[in-house]
Amino acid sequence: MAKPTALELYEKLVATDPRVERKGATVLYTSLNGNMLSYLSKEGKLALRLPPEEREAFLKQYNVRLCQAYGRVPPEYVEVPDSLLSSTRELKKFFDCSYAYAGSLKPKPTTRSKAGRSSAARIVGVLALALWCGAGTPARAAGDEFPVTQGKAYKFEKVAEGVYYASGGVGSNNVVIVNDRDVVLVDDGTTPAAARALLEDIRLLTNKPVSTVVNTHFHYDHTDGNSVFGPEVQIIGHEYLRNAILTFNVLDREPFKTSQKDRLPVQIASLREQLAAAKDAARKTELANQLASAQALSEQLKEIKPTPPNVTYASKMVLYKGGREIQLLFLGRGHTGGDTFVYLPRERIVCTGDMDEGARIAYMGDAFFDEWIATLEALKKLDFTLVLPGHGRPFRDKGQITAFQSYLKDLTAQVADLRKQGVKPEEAAKRVDLSSHKKDFPDIQGAGADLRGVRRIYQWMDESQK
Ligand SMILES: [Zn+2]
Repeated sequence: MAKPTALELYEKLVATDPRVERKGATVLYTSLNGNMLSYLSKEGKLALRLPPEEREAFLKQYNVRLCQAYGRVPPEYVEVPDSLLSSTRELKKFFDCSYAYAGSLKPKPTTRSKAGRSSAARIVGVLALALWCGAGTPARAAGDEFPVTQGKAYKFEKVAEGVYYASGGVGSNNVVIVNDRDVVLVDDGTTPAAARALLEDIRLLTNKPVSTVVNTHFHYDHTDGNSVFGPEVQIIGHEYLRNAILTFNVLDREPFKTSQKDRLPVQIASLREQLAAAKDAARKTELANQLASAQALSEQLKEIKPTPPNVTYASKMVLYKGGREIQLLFLGRGHTGGDTFVYLPRERIVCTGDMDEGARIAYMGDAFFDEWIATLEALKKLDFTLVLPGHGRPFRDKGQITAFQSYLKDLTAQVADLRKQGVKPEEAAKRVDLSSHKKDFPDIQGAGADLRGVRRIYQWMDESQK
């Protein structure tokens, strides 16, 4: 079947609203009360006229520019990306918003307009503006209510047909992709126990076997479930990742060291003390539960056998699973030296691991900072409408990725300054102030940044002689 043309897609969109009439001979457009609301350029690009707030949100979400074309056209038109043009259902809410906006503008007399009809149309337009432009503005976080299947340990949110976002386990949030005959997993948590719990809960979704695990990067909380899989399962990662697991002594270094190995005994001791001192029965129960799960995790950590992938790739690998295409993409270094994006082009979904965690700030102890910013730029060029990060929440807005790039830029600049002044990393980690980014990263509690990330910036600057 041939791909529909931009014109066909435009006509399909216009047909969703019987109030809208298509006009124009050379340039096709729609208008209301003499005010144009959309047009199709000769190059086959749809331009949509949006009110200021929605325009800003749209530009951010889709990372597109205003249209300056066609002389007298005011720069109120956004260029609709081809991917959105082909999704009439998604585009419709913006089209309605545009119609409502045109309807709210002062009518322009045209030779064909009839006064009575035009004022009636105007009222409809204003009503629609209230309905769509307020509530319909695309939110920064996805905010979607995805259908949920709750397992014993994991919660699965169905984000597309056969695609589930799994959270609630120990370590990473994972993605479960159910195909015609098998299941592909993205990441598998901190411990073998976590991976076994995930496999058990997946049985609520499907009886198909897990054939493939993709590790987004080498960190323990994404890969230490690997050892539960038999040799028949392909574990795929970037070649850097395999090398890291084999040679970095991962259980004796960061981030495992501070986050698990050193932290847990201290936590267990503190919980024991608090439990001994607690008077209130409810508080006692709560502390006893916390202690039990910390002790269980401590036992489970002992079972970890860092297990490298048995399949590696260097820049791109594509899995064809029945009707599904799954791309593994290395777009450059960043969070680590070998991060994979798992991209579903048909579903327009990308799994980002810790390269981007939406409204959360990722760990930076193994990062390559300037390359990270560049790699995120390459990521934004992919055609997707949903991001499934390795921690946090799914999100849709590419502006969220831009916000993280800006955080990285700001942090490295501040640390570089302090380093130049001869300040030690420990002190620099206290003095940097990223609180101006709080609107995008609500976890920021004031000045300061994670010492491991700041130390890494010093090291990275030495390595790259910056
Ligand atoms: Zn990580």
